[in-house]
Amino acid sequence: MIILEPTETDTEAWRVDARCRDGAASLVALFFSDDRDDIGRAKAFCRACPVRRPCLESALEREEPCGVWGGELVADGRVQLEIPRRGRPPKVRRPDPYFDHWSEGLSA
Ligand code: SF4
Repeated sequence: MIILEPTETDTEAWRVDARCRDGAASLVALFFSDDRDDIGRAKAFCRACPVRRPCLESALEREEPCGVWGGELVADGRVQLEIPRRGRPPKVRRPDPYFDHWSEGLSA
């Protein structure tokens, strides 16, 4: 049996301390759900994670297509400031927020 352990040169060694790491991937459905309540629960779960910042930085560097990473909803490699609403989209689309740096959009 081979067990992969992060090394000091591993740039993603922070994963060892990930709160969502349970060895069974039991939270995958929650973290990649389209349901607003699930997204809120996933974001709340991340709030107590000690590696929230590197998790989000890594997701943005990889341009993750979707999911909750580092306590933020990410889509197409960008932090989404609003959870998509249920139902019909508005007739006039709201403009996307603009930030010089991704960390400006982090919630507390
Ligand atoms: S911030 Fe959230 S998604 Fe990232 S490692 Fe922690 S619990 Fe998992």
